[in-house]
Amino acid sequence: MGVVRFFSLLILVLTLTACGPGPTEKKKETTQLLMGTLVTISTWGLSAAEDEKAVTAAFREMARVEALLSSHKPESAISRVNASPRGFPRKVDAEVLHVMREAMRFQELSGGAFDPGLRPLVRLWRFSETPPPVAPPSRDEVTAWLQARGGGVGVELTDGGMVLLNRGVGLDLGGIAKGYAIDRAVSVLREHGVKNAIVNAGGDMRVMGDKGGAPWRIGVQHPRNPDNAIAVVDLSGDIAMVTSGDYERYFVTKERRYHHVLNPGTGYPAESGLMSVSVQASTAMAADALSTAVFVMGPKRGLAFLKQAGAEGMLIDAQGRKVKTPGFREASE
Ligand code: FAD
Ligand code: MG
Repeated sequence: MGVVRFFSLLILVLTLTACGPGPTEKKKETTQLLMGTLVTISTWGLSAAEDEKAVTAAFREMARVEALLSSHKPESAISRVNASPRGFPRKVDAEVLHVMREAMRFQELSGGAFDPGLRPLVRLWRFSETPPPVAPPSRDEVTAWLQARGGGVGVELTDGGMVLLNRGVGLDLGGIAKGYAIDRAVSVLREHGVKNAIVNAGGDMRVMGDKGGAPWRIGVQHPRNPDNAIAVVDLSGDIAMVTSGDYERYFVTKERRYHHVLNPGTGYPAESGLMSVSVQASTAMAADALSTAVFVMGPKRGLAFLKQAGAEGMLIDAQGRKVKTPGFREASE
């Protein structure tokens, strides 16, 4: 090797060292399967050891929340409430009560469009089962559920517990608990000193900080074309974005699409003229409950509801048109 070549190589190595690790090394990504979906936590600017410690603790926290709130796990606190006789108070721990209190607040605010008590109806529709359903339940089964459920909230909170009022009610926090788990993961990352990260559970996410001064750039999936984004969003600071859509769990039979976001008033999948709703709010729990509620309420009531709740939204209607609240953050180019 000539002397000139040796020195130019040396200069190149020194230059790279002076710049520090490149952008791809600054971003670290870890993925785990939790709550029936892929969860990815990305951090920015941490050493491998710092990233591993914080991210492992955040995933452990999400698994703890899943074990507590899942209606898919027979041993969870929620499943134990569901297995108990109706009409009798049952003690639950403070964290379950906290999430239920929030869920019932959104139930009330949305006039019942969001309903954390739909477990018996969700089971009739069988969207989370393997193999997935190919036909809807019979109309008689849905009518029987509507009769058993009756009107009203269906759940009463007591001192340190709750009562499920009738057999038409059972807890299913599928519309809010993923958001809560994301918020808990963010708290744990923060406790570990993490300032820049994103927790993404199957497209529902909360961001912290940014990527070395640049925002986190996120694509919102096109409701009918999974390989394309219908919108690109730049988020930084402390904000959550959650999407509810008719394309996540669904089946088509006799040219009709049946999806997993159910209208508690009819017992059938919501037909509000929307294909998807993305909500930006300060917590993932609020964004999760609001996106589900707005999907059921439809564009007119949904936009007014978002305004009242102080959140921003992007609604995609049946023709693929976007309707947004003025403060919904999108990428500038
Ligand atoms: P969202 O719109 O946020 O929620 C829709 C879900 O909420 C429905 O699937 C139903 O569960 C419920 N729901 C329907 N209508 C309403 C309504 N009007 N108001 C309120 N809620 C409604 N999936 C698996 O396949 N296997 C698992 O083991 C599993 N474990 C889970 C554990 C936890 C703690 C959570 C939160 C979810 C889990 N899931 C699992 C996924 C779950 O079954 C739902 O499919 C998922 O939460 C839907 O989320 P989403 O963001 O797509 O839709
Ligand atoms: Mg939701």
